[in-house]
Amino acid sequence: MSARKTAVVTGSTSGIGLAIADALAAAGHDIVVNSFTDTAGDHAVAAAIAERHGVKALYIKADMSRPAECRALVAGAAEAFGSLDVLVNNAGIQHVAPVEEFPIEKWDAIIAINLSSAFHTTAAAIPLMRKAGGGRVVNIASAHGLVASPFKSAYVSAKHGIIGLTKTVALELARENITCNAICPGYVLTPLVEAQIPDQMKAHRMDRDTVVREVMLEKQPTKEFVTVEQVAAAAVFLCSEAAAQINGTHLSIDGGWTAQ
Ligand code: NAD
Repeated sequence: MSARKTAVVTGSTSGIGLAIADALAAAGHDIVVNSFTDTAGDHAVAAAIAERHGVKALYIKADMSRPAECRALVAGAAEAFGSLDVLVNNAGIQHVAPVEEFPIEKWDAIIAINLSSAFHTTAAAIPLMRKAGGGRVVNIASAHGLVASPFKSAYVSAKHGIIGLTKTVALELARENITCNAICPGYVLTPLVEAQIPDQMKAHRMDRDTVVREVMLEKQPTKEFVTVEQVAAAAVFLCSEAAAQINGTHLSIDGGWTAQ
């Protein structure tokens, strides 16, 4: 086991994943940054994290809609850094449409990226964590892993599914110093949420401000977006020794949404 811990964060070139990668690096982890493209900008994200925090950081291209690439990402991280201690399954996409009009290819992509990828990366990570003497799996679910909203059938199904995967993995590995938990954010202002605004404006026939206030933050009692830093701090906590007995559960960061 290497002295410094290694963390893989899927979908970490922007939004929540980037904030988690940055926060884990600040906590001393070497980091594998991932997305499905292979641009200079992608590699620059990893270089900036390494520079900011004095850790090693590497960009590995892997498309989370492809099972073999999910597994290769984990293997590549262990090969590069010698171990794997933390896996954060964060990559996710969204599509908003009534269920009877929901495009089949969008359904398949959301289930693959938001749910099945976590199965593949986790399966590949377990033997490596076992070898390292323990580990942490953190799945970025959503308030939509606990409750539904209209027009998001695939997303809600995938996020409910990942809560089930979280519980199952936790039970299977409970005696091996490997924990598995989920984080359930409410609305966080990231590129993914920005991209939903036009669809929501169309679906609800509202202007931007109204859709943000009355639709998106309608269920979030604080009427404020969650920040990426708040989600990242929770992920770092779940990866810490203090969280060793937190297992198979979820942490909601939703301004009170699911208290209703
Ligand atoms: P984002 O669009 O900013 O980031 C998503 C990341 O995933 C990007 O780095 C993107 O490149 C990557 N990605 C997309 N498809 C991929 C693929 N096929 N293979 C590899 N990487 C891929 O989105 P975000 O808002 O930061 O969302 C991150 C996670 O948080 C998602 O799982 C999302 O469902 C969840 N979440 C977001 C919110 C929110 O309000 N933003 C709320 C709850 C949960």
